[in-house]
Amino acid sequence: MNLEDIQTVRSILSKPQKIVIIPHKNPDGDAIGSCLGLQSFLLEKGHEATVITPNDYPKFLKWMPSSGSILNYERENTEAKRSLEEATVVFTLDFNDLSRTGQLDKVLQEKSADFIMIDHHQQPSDYATVTYSDVSMSSTCEMVYNFMEFLGALDTITKDIATNLYTGIMTDTGSFKYRSTSSRTHRVVADLIDRGADNMKIHQQVFDTNSPSRLHLLGVALSNMVILPEYRTAYITLTQQELDENDFKKGDTEGFVNYGLTLEGIIFAMIFIENREEGIIKISFRSIGDFSVNEFARKHFNGGGHDNAAGGRSELSMKETIEKLNKILKTYKSQLNP
Ligand code: 5GP
Ligand code: MN
Repeated sequence: MNLEDIQTVRSILSKPQKIVIIPHKNPDGDAIGSCLGLQSFLLEKGHEATVITPNDYPKFLKWMPSSGSILNYERENTEAKRSLEEATVVFTLDFNDLSRTGQLDKVLQEKSADFIMIDHHQQPSDYATVTYSDVSMSSTCEMVYNFMEFLGALDTITKDIATNLYTGIMTDTGSFKYRSTSSRTHRVVADLIDRGADNMKIHQQVFDTNSPSRLHLLGVALSNMVILPEYRTAYITLTQQELDENDFKKGDTEGFVNYGLTLEGIIFAMIFIENREEGIIKISFRSIGDFSVNEFARKHFNGGGHDNAAGGRSELSMKETIEKLNKILKTYKSQLNP
């Protein structure tokens, strides 16, 4: 954030404001952690602050401090609408374009307030009064930490804030192993531990609370995996029927896509998950090295994200989607075998 933006933020926050904080649809650990961490900070500073998620988020994040206060725009619509109407400041966290908020898109476009974006995705849209965008960052949680540092307020980080920010950094870096994990990331995380984040407990609460049905679903996913050595690619499909047979709950497929990349020689992995209710196939893309899945998802599957982790969708059937993929892959043979 440059000095001018820091001044603008200081002046916006110099008097008590009614603030809403909004993550992207299908929020993940980084989206929820950054929103909750920022919310506690703003409350401590004497503002009103409410987190509104466009829809629900996975159960493995529901232990996070103050997550009980989150308003789900689908479920607590009246309350959420009221907070939005009254808001004088809107923070948008962990996304680069209002379209990522699903049905909140239109409401936010029509809303007049000071918008502050904090995000690490590529190609940020220009809708905010202050845009703090940095694609080199490991996570939005690391950026919220920086944000507090810019405001000279690191000492207001409580155990709860530290826990929320630690969780988001941990989930968005694949437990501190992705390329975006810097020595600075580790310094931030070390400071968060010093300020009360119980790292071992956080890992357990996120990763070691599997249900038997989730592990069965993982078994199905792994046996469905198709490996295409000539494209150094592996992909997984899961149909709605397979999800139903294994008592699918939101969040159960989190991390499945990464198994493809654990195969020696594979640099491009995908998972295609049918969502009959929305009439789409939701896709996750992951890569290792220079192959940009952000570009791939943007160009072919109406999505985007980061160079090595992106998402997208298809409105075709599963069969047609895979046929489309096979056609597209043919044109990427040399890029995937540099
Ligand atoms: P995931 O595959 O875990 O859902 O998402 C991977 C990354 O891509 C995340 O940073 C996420 O925010 C982004 N992403 C996921 N789905 C979409 C999408 O439909 N459009 C865009 N632009 N980004 C997405
Ligand atoms: Mn993120």
